Amino acid sequence: VKPERSAADERYVCIDDVTKEFDGFVAVDDVSLNIRKGEIFALLGGSGCGKSTLLRCLAGFEKPTTGRILLDGQVLNELPPYERPINMMFQSYALFPHMTVEQNIAFGLKQDRMTRADIKRRVDEMLTLVQMTKYAVRKPHQLSGGQQQRVALARSLAKSPKLLLLDEPMGALDKKLRSQMQLELVNIIEKLGVTCVMVTHDQEEAMTMATRIALMDSGRIRQVGTPDEIYEQPTSRFAAEFIGSVNIIDGVIKDDEKDFVTIQSAALAHLIHIGHGISGFEGQRVNFALRPEKITVSKEEPADAHNKAQGSIEEIAYFGSHSVFHVRLPSGTKLMAHFANRKRWASESFTWNEKVWLSWGENAGVVLPT
Ligand code: ATP
Repeated sequence: VKPERSAADERYVCIDDVTKEFDGFVAVDDVSLNIRKGEIFALLGGSGCGKSTLLRCLAGFEKPTTGRILLDGQVLNELPPYERPINMMFQSYALFPHMTVEQNIAFGLKQDRMTRADIKRRVDEMLTLVQMTKYAVRKPHQLSGGQQQRVALARSLAKSPKLLLLDEPMGALDKKLRSQMQLELVNIIEKLGVTCVMVTHDQEEAMTMATRIALMDSGRIRQVGTPDEIYEQPTSRFAAEFIGSVNIIDGVIKDDEKDFVTIQSAALAHLIHIGHGISGFEGQRVNFALRPEKITVSKEEPADAHNKAQGSIEEIAYFGSHSVFHVRLPSGTKLMAHFANRKRWASESFTWNEKVWLSWGENAGVVLPT
């Protein structure tokens, strides 16, 4: 059983109404966030959404125009970067090229006037932690991208910062190495229990690494939640579309059935039945968001399904574990549906232009404001 977090740990990093303007341009717009001790927190968003500016405010490279930033109860606003108990790992790693791996890791410790024996002990610990002991006397250019990243991480963790900042940590790595390093990084960070804020534009990276995500757009926070919450319960069309793929169906709320709220849409021949309460009023225009993997594809009309639509397969994209069917409905609307390829050999296989039925459960989708 995990111990309850104290109120102070809940607000370990406290971003309080922070706005950052550059010559009248608002890059970060009144952002408030509480980040918990020990958490890996991701700032996720597209190019220009303000995520790097917010990270730079935490590091002290930028000063908020208004608002406060606190770490472990201490107000940081007036502290220069080098006086903050914070370390930042840059996308480019910024290793010193003329220094060996161990000299790179020792660099910050030397500035702290530690004894030689203590520095040696700490560097060895860090080398073990990132499994780079064998490479201690190499120079950065003699290392692979993944190895350079491990050294950069060891260097940023050597001084036991209260907060570790990661700026697009996997930006320089290719896709395969990236997913391996994501897990490795999380393991190391969790082993040390260090609190971490990372910036990424890559939703997959945020989903794999973060305990919680703040989704940003135009300088504002659109949603904060665990990866699971943001994926399963997006609160806006923006969030639903930013993470994963999704079908968006326009419609109007109708409230005339006993056990269901229904949505009428010009895209579908049948009403959409929703089995849970929703916020909204009869006649309100809404977006119904439905993930492709929540849809079942079948040849026969599913007799007891409340939610169904018939259409023809216009495109099949093969992804190994599953295929994505693009199904055109008579209204002209196209829906994406996943088909698990483990089922493919069992009974059904599908071809282009084939007529199929799509069906989904009453709790499969989310109703969002337009
Ligand atoms: P990217 O992923 O492309 O780095 P981002 O979400 O990190 O994007 P920021 O770098 O935070 O975005 O920039 C947010 C906005 O603020 C951008 O429109 C950018 O042009 C602007 N901006 C950032 N730094 C400055 C600056 N020093 N002076 C003027 N405008 C700036």
